[in-house]
Amino acid sequence: MAAPVTITFLGGLGQIGRNCAAIETEGRIVVLDCGQMFGGDDLPGVDAVLPDLSYLIENADRVDAVIATHAHEDHIGALPYLLTHLSLPIYGSPFTLGMIDHKLRERGLHKNAELRAVHDGDRLDIGPLDCEFLPVTHSIPSGNITAFHTTQGVILHSSDFKLDLTPVDGRRTDLSRIGALAHDPGIRLLMADSTNADSPGASRSETEVGRNLASLIRDQEGRRVIVASFASHIHRLQQLADAAVENDRVVVTLGLSMRRNVKLARDVGILRIPDWALRDVEDIDELDPEQTLIVCTGSQGEPRAALTQMAVGQSKWLKLDDNDTVVFSSHPIPGNEAAVASLRNGLARHGVRVFHSGMVDVHTSGHGKQQELKTLHSVAVPEWFVPVHGEYAHLVAHRDLAYDMGMPADRVVFCEDGDQIVLSDDGVVHQGSIGGDHLYVDGTVGDLGNTVLSERRTLGDDGFVSVMVHVDMERGEIVAGPDVISRGWVELPALAGHEAAVVDAVESDLLAALKDPDNDIERLGQIARRAAGRTVNDRTRRRPMIVPVVRED
Ligand SMILES: [Zn+2]
Ligand SMILES: [Zn+2]
Repeated sequence: MAAPVTITFLGGLGQIGRNCAAIETEGRIVVLDCGQMFGGDDLPGVDAVLPDLSYLIENADRVDAVIATHAHEDHIGALPYLLTHLSLPIYGSPFTLGMIDHKLRERGLHKNAELRAVHDGDRLDIGPLDCEFLPVTHSIPSGNITAFHTTQGVILHSSDFKLDLTPVDGRRTDLSRIGALAHDPGIRLLMADSTNADSPGASRSETEVGRNLASLIRDQEGRRVIVASFASHIHRLQQLADAAVENDRVVVTLGLSMRRNVKLARDVGILRIPDWALRDVEDIDELDPEQTLIVCTGSQGEPRAALTQMAVGQSKWLKLDDNDTVVFSSHPIPGNEAAVASLRNGLARHGVRVFHSGMVDVHTSGHGKQQELKTLHSVAVPEWFVPVHGEYAHLVAHRDLAYDMGMPADRVVFCEDGDQIVLSDDGVVHQGSIGGDHLYVDGTVGDLGNTVLSERRTLGDDGFVSVMVHVDMERGEIVAGPDVISRGWVELPALAGHEAAVVDAVESDLLAALKDPDNDIERLGQIARRAAGRTVNDRTRRRPMIVPVVRED
């Protein structure tokens, strides 16, 4: 019997973000991607949500390497946290590694990783796995599909993908190689991106978006043009740069990540902008506004991003007016709609002409829709299939799509975060779950749990009221207090009256309770909490956090 292969999904199945899987055979582990997810409004103060890295940290001596399929945050963002615990080689394309290198250097962790570049078509042993890297089209360049040649046959991981047949760099998804593998030796297991599994049709080619952007920019003659896009979307930037050059404009990068990524992409040869046509925003005063095309971040309404700063009139570099055109070359990511709407309103207040993907086709998804997924399935003809990368509903849609393609129900294995599957001579078996917990990051990693989050929500929604009392248990007396401190509860001047009522209620309940020698200090704390809570609720119908502090002499 050939050695089985175990795959543990540490994140990315059920929510978009924090993609990470552990692939292991013969006792050795290779990590496939290690991404993060950003905290939303429901996670106050959370900077990032990580995959459950504890499985990797507990098995550190068995982990051989990380493979990074591409440089999006949801695939590489958690690497710094993993590398504070482990030293590992990381495999990826030169561009992907360039992005990772920056991330690690920023945190002084680059010594913990040896970055090993792979190129399209490379096949090499990584830990216990014989890995083949194939090109794939996506909204960031130089991504890779990975084919793992294992004792259990070929396991194909699609990475994030679309089937763009006219990609900007001409580097198409290598369907012919996938087809060849499907023919010989066959694809035993397919794991494929589900992000757009509920969208019919096919995604538009990036070059089509480029043509639309070019014609839009042409129409803005005599105006300054600002385009907000993702800083990692190098092909979008390429097309913007081409359009700028064609229209005698110079490209001005605004924002650190924009400048850094443009430099990296030019260094590794995947972005071509002539030197004369590229400037940084620091030179903006020397340039004629009508002959610039400014590329910046902030298309999602991120509060600290360049575009938001402009919209609220706080940009160090640019003051917007009615001679400006702003193009959102992006879609709002789910959850960001309100921030984007308020950003557009802010721009409109300055008289700016705004274009977005709801008006012109100036954006396309990096994730394949149903027709593209079906094409992949029909080329790969997998024996087994696990939908990965998506919210729960996306995974379900991808599962149903596989059924529609004629896959038997028992060959589609539905997994969620934390699930572990084993591929053996008998096929794929669901082994159980190792948890798949969220790891919340705020400042330092790992010290943030659901208790703190729920406290933060209460504090954010209703504030707090604290009551401090000093008691003498033996004499049954209050020595000092009660004193009330509150924040975020009631506005002045009404506050004083409400606080006085809390003081009275706590004082009278505590004095009564002190007469009973059975009441210990803990019990007195509960009584103070109850008296304060009742008064707060009666008077204000609000539910701030009540924090009693009862001390004994
Ligand atoms: Zn991606
Ligand atoms: Zn992704």
